[in-house]
Amino acid sequence: MNNQQLLNRSLNAVWHPCTQMKQHETLPLIPISRGDGVWLTDIENKKYLDAVSSWWVNLFGHNNSRIKEAIKQQLDCLEHVMLAGFTHEPVVELSEKLSHLTGLGHAFYASDGASATEIALKMSFHYWRNSGKPAKNKFISLQNSYHGETLGALGVTDVAIFKDTYAPLLMQSAQMPSPDFRLAEKGESAEAFALRCAQVLEDYIAQYHAELAAFIIEPLVQCAAGMGMYDAIYIKRAREICNRYHVHLIADEIAVGFGRTGTMFACEQAQIKPDFICLSKGITGGYLPLSTVLTTDEIYAAFYNDSTIKGFLHSHSYTGNPLACSAALATLAIFETDDVINNNQQKTAAINEKMQVLTDLPIQHMRNKGMIWAFDVMTENAGFATTCYQQALQHGLLLRPIGKTVYFMPPYIINETEMDFMINTTKLCIEQSYA
Ligand SMILES: *Cc1c(COP(=O)(O)O)cnc(C)c1O
Repeated sequence: MNNQQLLNRSLNAVWHPCTQMKQHETLPLIPISRGDGVWLTDIENKKYLDAVSSWWVNLFGHNNSRIKEAIKQQLDCLEHVMLAGFTHEPVVELSEKLSHLTGLGHAFYASDGASATEIALKMSFHYWRNSGKPAKNKFISLQNSYHGETLGALGVTDVAIFKDTYAPLLMQSAQMPSPDFRLAEKGESAEAFALRCAQVLEDYIAQYHAELAAFIIEPLVQCAAGMGMYDAIYIKRAREICNRYHVHLIADEIAVGFGRTGTMFACEQAQIKPDFICLSKGITGGYLPLSTVLTTDEIYAAFYNDSTIKGFLHSHSYTGNPLACSAALATLAIFETDDVINNNQQKTAAINEKMQVLTDLPIQHMRNKGMIWAFDVMTENAGFATTCYQQALQHGLLLRPIGKTVYFMPPYIINETEMDFMINTTKLCIEQSYA
């Protein structure tokens, strides 16, 4: 089949995500046929370096032999069984491992990030209800937050382009000032700004705690907001405030978990434990859809009862799918055998150094946290993101700016040559698209 036929069939048969379909009258789809390491190959054999890890899910490259092998082995034993009334080894082993890593437990599974958010919100509310406090039924989140796009998750998300259209359908929630350091006053340190934001949070929670179930945050990096990074002190203060006023703290580590910020989980950098942690994206190394929510023994205990309706009666058809769990186990095994968290420090240092060649460009807020890099391009070109994206594709780089923010979130297996290609090509593309 030739390229054009496949593209036409896709446009007729598939409704692509996060897309105004009419834009494809001018912006062609890219038909991918293979992946290997950081590279994607289209059906005409053109290669693209995947600098965004295919929407932040791929950790150890495409066509990873170890993850692939684990799925194949699982495929020969059991592809799926319902998890209500049944269990299996991959889900037990994965739950134990995640519990060990997060310090939380009782892993509840779904298949995507938004569903994990829904689960955490529902569990939090239901905990308070089971505990005789049904009035605690509201949620707060940060300005510019992103927690997924199902109706419940969208209710705590604060990205206008995704949210405003559906406003009449959504649960109300209040947004606290974002500690995103780009929003600080001139001369203010990241820490001072974070503390100033935390004070507003404290004032709000002090006033409204009787009706608040939980505060949900993306620890350290608000990724969808354009990689807004903030000081860990904010998370520490949020934990203290939530403790004092009996409000749950939900850590949405869907994007930042599994080593992205330089530690296995971002919360570790604030030395705190949330009441709920939401995980997805990198959990299977980008192989299969899987998400999970882990929580505390205390919260779990409030559901453990002779009464059926005090239990958490939530489910998804593919809850705890064995193939997805086996991919997750293989991913965690790679973290151990390859000492990934430590080895990534060298990659971080190498990329930081190479990125110095970008400083001559009209950019600001150059920032890095672990394996995430971002900067904002000072441009009057309203179509910058699209122009830059297209330029990059032409040069064999998958770069997907968010507004005027250009970012890298590459697979952890990226090597020196590939880093150079990613950064030098980016430089070229910005030079060609900012004006
Ligand atoms: C991507 C993302 C989600 C939603 O995950 P989906 O799998 O796309 O539903 C939620 N929260 C954060 C922080 C994310 O980055």
